[in-house]
Amino acid sequence: MSFEQPLPKSLSPSRLQDFQSCPRKYQHASVERIPQPASYASAKGRFVHYIFEHLHRLPAPERTIERTRDFVDSAIEAVLTVDVRNDIGMDDAMLKKLLQETRAIITTYFEMEDPTAINHEGVELRLGVEIDGTPLFGILDRLDRDPDGELVIVDYKTGGLPNRNYDTSTFANAELYAALCEAKLGEQPNKIRLLYVAQGETIERSVSEVTIRARASAAANAWQRINRYYDDGEFPATPSKSSCRFCAYREICKADGVPVPA
Ligand code: SF4
Repeated sequence: MSFEQPLPKSLSPSRLQDFQSCPRKYQHASVERIPQPASYASAKGRFVHYIFEHLHRLPAPERTIERTRDFVDSAIEAVLTVDVRNDIGMDDAMLKKLLQETRAIITTYFEMEDPTAINHEGVELRLGVEIDGTPLFGILDRLDRDPDGELVIVDYKTGGLPNRNYDTSTFANAELYAALCEAKLGEQPNKIRLLYVAQGETIERSVSEVTIRARASAAANAWQRINRYYDDGEFPATPSKSSCRFCAYREICKADGVPVPA
């Protein structure tokens, strides 16, 4: 078998995660481009990101809680499209729940940091760069310059907190973004800051050159395998409870005879 669709021109940190969790998922999502229906969690994530993006695009003195709340109406229009509403079966009760949770998140966020005091190097920063022959592309929530002059990668998280051991996947995306920043801007971010805005918790980790090299090398390795599987005409399925649980392609895989766990 060979694919009718071309291989994507670049690899993003989230698509790399798809590939690493199950190559077949990458095939369905990135090569065959079979749409993944929105879920309540993904819609809420986009909704909250939209609001914080617009807040941080304002000049620093204007980044107030009142201005933040003003972006809720435009988020409804921009994010809760007819397709998204249909995917998640949104009715009045669900919209009310989303708006309540968003209001709570905005209040919590203003207890976590003072956006008027933040110095950005970029908001929704688009980074495309080739590292070791691997074309990488991603959009970073924020790149801040801390008062001590350090570059910090900032990522909003609207889901649950990770377990206390902070497994490697918690920071994997952000560490690859650090590699992109270094290659594109010529300066290495020294810190990753994950803002769990529903819980009001911030998790930070330092970034080392060794970590950045390891992430770039894992991405290069994945890109080589992606090209090989593409040429072979099939990406292997690696079903597991954790990968398949929320996967949009469960029914396709079952029909293909993949032993998808219940
Ligand atoms: S259902 Fe499981 S095996 Fe199939 S693509 Fe998704 S993660 Fe892979």
